[in-house]
Amino acid sequence: MKIFDEIESEVQSYARSFPRVFHKAQGEYLYDEDGNRYIDFLAGAGTLNYGHNHPKFKEKLLAYIQDDGITHGLDLHTRAKGEFLEAFNEKILKPRELEYVVQFPGPTGTNAVEAAIKVARNVKGRENIVAFTNGFHGVTLGSLAVTGNEHHRGAAGVSLSGTFRMPYDGYLGEGFDTTAYFDKVLSDSSSGIDLPAAVIVETVQGEGGINTASFEWLRNLEEVCRRHDVLLIVDDIQAGCGRTGTYFSFEEAGIKPDIVTLSKSLSGYGLPMSVVLIKPDLDTWRPGEHNGTFRGNSLAFVTAKAAIDEFWSDDSFSKEVKRKGAVIHERLQKIVNEYGEGNFTERGRGMFHGLNCVSGDLAGQITRAAFKKGLIIETSGADDQVVKTLCPLIISDENLQKGLDIVEESVAEVLGKIDDVPSEHDFFADREAS
Ligand SMILES: *Cc1c(COP(=O)(O)O)cnc(C)c1O
Repeated sequence: MKIFDEIESEVQSYARSFPRVFHKAQGEYLYDEDGNRYIDFLAGAGTLNYGHNHPKFKEKLLAYIQDDGITHGLDLHTRAKGEFLEAFNEKILKPRELEYVVQFPGPTGTNAVEAAIKVARNVKGRENIVAFTNGFHGVTLGSLAVTGNEHHRGAAGVSLSGTFRMPYDGYLGEGFDTTAYFDKVLSDSSSGIDLPAAVIVETVQGEGGINTASFEWLRNLEEVCRRHDVLLIVDDIQAGCGRTGTYFSFEEAGIKPDIVTLSKSLSGYGLPMSVVLIKPDLDTWRPGEHNGTFRGNSLAFVTAKAAIDEFWSDDSFSKEVKRKGAVIHERLQKIVNEYGEGNFTERGRGMFHGLNCVSGDLAGQITRAAFKKGLIIETSGADDQVVKTLCPLIISDENLQKGLDIVEESVAEVLGKIDDVPSEHDFFADREAS
């Protein structure tokens, strides 16, 4: 469509990878204007864990709107907010023995990160925040300062300060526990590294290339933080809400972060919403000190509560995610073995997996080939070298297999292992020929 070339900013990104005009979506399917159907392995970069337009959430949302439920209420107490908080407390926090107060910042992920690092700095009266290599936390200035990516950082236009970088788990090779280095520099008064207020970490780095921290590393990190009186912030914006197989990605590591950020799939419906979870004794905010017009998106409260009730009332969904995650792991491992020639690797946890193709060029060719076969899938990592499987967690077994078949066929095609791809999924072929 011409209008996009005419007046939409050059800043577009995903639109360049999938140059179609999309129109409808349901579950794990996206449809374009020409009626082509795609399997969605991008899922709003982790925003659509429960798929597109979940019918039960939609029903609740439509009823709320029909009833003239509050759509915008600043931070007023509303029934929708109260019901979300009750569900979140009863079904998410209490069963996990987590005690947090809930802050509603602006509705995007980076809003939550900004609030988290601000409160951490104020609590500790220190400026420095430790972030990790390849971490991604958003693109507003505070979040950008803790983000690693050069492309994003380069656009800041001002110096990004008040942070320093530590090597993430595995960054210096296997067998090197990078938390030992962190402990060392904090213990050495001449290391030149000022005591930080907090550490901000992703348990699995989504944008950074599905780098996956081990539970042991996370426990060691928590221990170093405790030893040196440094707060631990887990940015669970992409890894949380079930993506790794548990509601919070850090649960199985047994750690209890001081502050947690959630967004992306929190509303369950693709509606913008984010929260900062803060240990009660760290909630030193003064009234209105941090604000925002869109604190708390009422429509998102309705669907977020529906998502918790539907999927998190017991552990059956968690088991499903782990079961499907094992399928993804197995299929990707098979691709690594059959086509990787000793270069490819597979990594991730739960349904948060990536195929590391080492070369960004190769990974891009693979995702483009997949798109031609009706699969929407993206890359991540410093060089976009990792093909990221991020399908909705609710995907059917059949479509999960189909999507993974397409990934495998695309890898085979790009590496020239097969000349002609099975035409079963090649649904663009006819249209482009005509
Ligand atoms: C997406 C993401 C963010 C930023 O969220 P936005 O809504 O894009 O501002 C922050 N942290 C992580 C881990 C993310 O994946």
